[in-house]
Amino acid sequence: MPSLSEETQGRKAMLLPGDTIGIVGGGQLGRMMALSARYMGFKVGVLDPTPDCPTAQVADFQVTAEYDDRSAIHELAERSDVLTYEFENVDADAIDAVRGIAAAPQGTDLLRVTQNRVREKRFINDHGTPTAPWRAVNSTEELDAALDEIHYPAVLKTCEGGYDGHGQTVLRSDADLEKVRARADRGGGFPPSILEGFVDFAFEASILVSGNGRDYVTFPIVRNEHRHNILHMTIAPAEVSAEVAREAHELAIRLARGFELAGTLAIELFVTKDDRVIVNELAPRPHNSGHYTIEACSFDQFDAHIRGIAGWPLEQPRLLSPAVMVNVLGQHVEPTRALIKDHPEWNVHDYGKAEVRHDRKMGHITVLTDDPARTVSELEATGCWDDLKVA
Ligand code: AMP
Repeated sequence: MPSLSEETQGRKAMLLPGDTIGIVGGGQLGRMMALSARYMGFKVGVLDPTPDCPTAQVADFQVTAEYDDRSAIHELAERSDVLTYEFENVDADAIDAVRGIAAAPQGTDLLRVTQNRVREKRFINDHGTPTAPWRAVNSTEELDAALDEIHYPAVLKTCEGGYDGHGQTVLRSDADLEKVRARADRGGGFPPSILEGFVDFAFEASILVSGNGRDYVTFPIVRNEHRHNILHMTIAPAEVSAEVAREAHELAIRLARGFELAGTLAIELFVTKDDRVIVNELAPRPHNSGHYTIEACSFDQFDAHIRGIAGWPLEQPRLLSPAVMVNVLGQHVEPTRALIKDHPEWNVHDYGKAEVRHDRKMGHITVLTDDPARTVSELEATGCWDDLKVA
């Protein structure tokens, strides 16, 4: 069978320096993709509604329009050799509509699967990979029936559009269920949802896999700490048994093969107390938990993404040093800037966002270290991230 990438997407076998990559979405992920693309000699265009967005600052041109503006996507395609995207809620039909103009090596199946939690869970399970037990639920009656099988505690999530814990309700008792019923009765209706068993995890982790439609390579499994549902810190590598590391790598390769992946895919994981790995969700793009790879790996997640969509060969990235990555949200900008002068070991990244807002991702700091636990303590001891401590 011809591969998806060559047959249905009609892309050139391989892009070369001088060709143009069009990115839908102009935030920090697009910016870091663009930086990788540019050092390889590609030209970069970006579609984003905000003039001078983070990606536009390092790109060759910007099409300034909403992400779902069909004529703008058409214009980006006309000016590009390949299209990619930095977030998953891109209009897949709009990408399909311009595939005769520019190639879309990632395809749109990956987008359609990851845009819907039920499709995503089914895909993961169909590829021999465990998730929390789940049921699709489209009404309060179906929710009752699903709870009979899954039991409390459980997590109810909307199928589409949720992120960072938005659109999620933890159900621990009938009282919580009543609140969901009341919300539906008040006219909110019952959006297509998924009920998942609550995973009593030891910690959250993630693994990145990159492909070029033929070959697939993985990055190390890393440990992630969230605060208020926003990624706070990534510790690379995660301290896990050889068995957990092997399973994480194997499942990443299985999923990548299933998608005939081109570019980078992030897989969010739960590591359970009895040392198993369960997939939480997928992100069809580079991921915040992979920013450490910029300094800590022989190829970073953005390089691998660009190489993958360009049809370039990929070698297994090597971890050159353990690392700790901490996010700089709006409230951390001033305190961290005040301390740059004291921290030669901080690899400081700033995304060039004009507006500083509480909880908005403004940048990150990566520290290479032989002792991640000590580095975590040193970072926390600066007090820069104290605001997030739960009282
Ligand atoms: P998500 O939007 O699916 O990534 O979920 C956001 C956060 O909610 C995750 O990072 C977990 O901390 C938590 N969470 C999501 N699903 C579950 C689950 N089935 N069991 C326990 N915690 C969960």
